[in-house]
Amino acid sequence: MIKGKLILLIFYVLFFSCSEAKIGYEPTAQTIALIEKSKTLQLRGEKVEQSMLRKKDSIVMLIGGSSIEVTSDDKDFVNIESMSNEFILDMKYATSNNFLKEKVYSCAKCFVRKEVAEALIKANNELLTQGYRIKFFDCYRPYSVQKKMWKIFPNPGYVADPKGGSIHNRGAAVDISLVRSGGGHVDMGTKFDHFGKEAHHSYRSLSPTVLGHRKLLKETMQKYGFKTIRTEWWHYNFKGNTKYEISDFSWKCD
Ligand SMILES: [Zn+2]
Repeated sequence: MIKGKLILLIFYVLFFSCSEAKIGYEPTAQTIALIEKSKTLQLRGEKVEQSMLRKKDSIVMLIGGSSIEVTSDDKDFVNIESMSNEFILDMKYATSNNFLKEKVYSCAKCFVRKEVAEALIKANNELLTQGYRIKFFDCYRPYSVQKKMWKIFPNPGYVADPKGGSIHNRGAAVDISLVRSGGGHVDMGTKFDHFGKEAHHSYRSLSPTVLGHRKLLKETMQKYGFKTIRTEWWHYNFKGNTKYEISDFSWKCD
């Protein structure tokens, strides 16, 4: 509205000043008043524009994730291998064999919160009695890696938006599969990080053997406090994970 009025006034002022210049008249009191008014409106317009720009800056800051609290300490984190040697590690992000096609971890380690590790050990012990064990694809994921992943694949169905962070960043989510207790392959229907409906828990067009494997993993994990997400059979969140802060520490490699 203000801009519209401003343009109209400038038009009038230009019109009057041009016609006066041609005719050679002195500006009338009305023209002078209009010029003054247009100057005031222009100043007001600039102020509005400046305040709009300030607002835009603050939105960008929020989108940039400055509202999120990220710590760099490793409090409560444990290396799962220091607590049990019954797991298999197949950390995909420590290789380039992942959807990013890039090695984003300098070495393959599985860190989680102590409480999460204890629950995983219990679930694994139960699976061992049935001839299986847990294989890890991903555990704690530093926040800076999350941002990198989002930049490459900004799809909230598969990568958590760094704005809110991922449960992986809190050390309370794991990406896992089953292997035979002797180490043999277990068919879960799709590969890890298969971004399609075949990886959904609701997808039923799979062999009874595959459905049985997914069910065994799901029921065992749920028994020890883990929850599924709709789109990934391999992802498990530990209950009450928001009590843990989003972290950005990087583990040491030997
Ligand atoms: Zn995951």
